[in-house]
Amino acid sequence: MEADYHLANQHQEKDTLFFDPIYTLHSPKRTLGHSAVAQANRQAAVVEQMTAHEPSSVSYQALETSSDALVDDVQTELKEVRETLGAIGTAAEGVMTRYLDTAAPKHILHMLGRSPDSTQPTVEWKDWMTTKASNDELLNVLQGHNYVVEQQSTSEYIALALDVHKHRFIQTAKGLYEVKVFGLPPKNIDDLDLVIGDVFDTLMKERAGYYHPGRPEVVVVQGQESSQYRRDVAVERNFNQVLTHEFVHALLCRSLEIPGSPLAVRWLNEAQTEATSRYIRWSNNYPVAEDGVYRAERMLRKSMLQGTPDIAQSERLLLRAFTGTPQDGDIFSAHIDAAWGARGVINKISRAVAFEETQLTPVGKDKNYAIEAAAVLTVNEKLKTDPKKITSA
Ligand SMILES: [Zn+2]
Repeated sequence: MEADYHLANQHQEKDTLFFDPIYTLHSPKRTLGHSAVAQANRQAAVVEQMTAHEPSSVSYQALETSSDALVDDVQTELKEVRETLGAIGTAAEGVMTRYLDTAAPKHILHMLGRSPDSTQPTVEWKDWMTTKASNDELLNVLQGHNYVVEQQSTSEYIALALDVHKHRFIQTAKGLYEVKVFGLPPKNIDDLDLVIGDVFDTLMKERAGYYHPGRPEVVVVQGQESSQYRRDVAVERNFNQVLTHEFVHALLCRSLEIPGSPLAVRWLNEAQTEATSRYIRWSNNYPVAEDGVYRAERMLRKSMLQGTPDIAQSERLLLRAFTGTPQDGDIFSAHIDAAWGARGVINKISRAVAFEETQLTPVGKDKNYAIEAAAVLTVNEKLKTDPKKITSA
């Protein structure tokens, strides 16, 4: 492995942009292959110390042992990376190909026939990374990837754009709360950090960003462009839609922390989040066309509210249910039940969605976003045309 590592170091000399052997990564921690790259950097530093014969405070043997341990760690991590890559589905493979063609080191692109000046036949990324690439070659690609994400994470352009967006969001959200929820303060969005999301952890899992309740951060997808500037612009372009949506998740998460809350289901959570996000982005003027993300979920939410006599009042109650106390949740549930003339209507709708999902998911496969959306549309159709099928189930 040590000889192999020197081979990698030769590449490093060719392309200093990507391969500074003691290049350190401080963030983010969840980038694919992050620990392998960090460990390899450490190992390179140890090897450098050993070849310099300057083990001042540490004995040579201790250095050698620590170097071997680091090599083992890198190999274990690379094996896991290969497994992750091997499990990538066809749709995500397209995303991976487009991305690596912009982020991978030049000498690798050339070697795989993927750069404009290469003459050899083109090698596919997934097969090569999973089985054919040597540990050092795979490590080189991961170094390039981690470098790109690191650059995005420390970009001043992004930091400034984030400040502006946060400020605007908080102002609008405050207005929304005052008008619609009678003065409940928005949770402190200022405390939320922005994490640039690894494309392997975002787009390739069919998400442009995410927020986990309880974690003080929102994650948005990194840009997939060919230069730092273009990537920055692409990340910023996502702020209005993706970051607003994730900020709203943070605002609305209180209902999800209430045990047994009927609001803590994915279809309704996403529908309400995107509906509120649209309100914040376009004030009172929702674009009429039902387009964009979570369209099916928003349609079902609308159908559920249309069973009630006063939609504006129901909207207020629902927003309050999502952000307020458990009692606010109960008030909304009772409001919906009264309108549809049945008990536990929200739960019944959610059960119907879960049932349709199992019907639509092929045996031995996982459900995906398309299946979820199709199930929601089916339930929406029933609620509109034959609501008894749902409400009396
Ligand atoms: Zn969401």
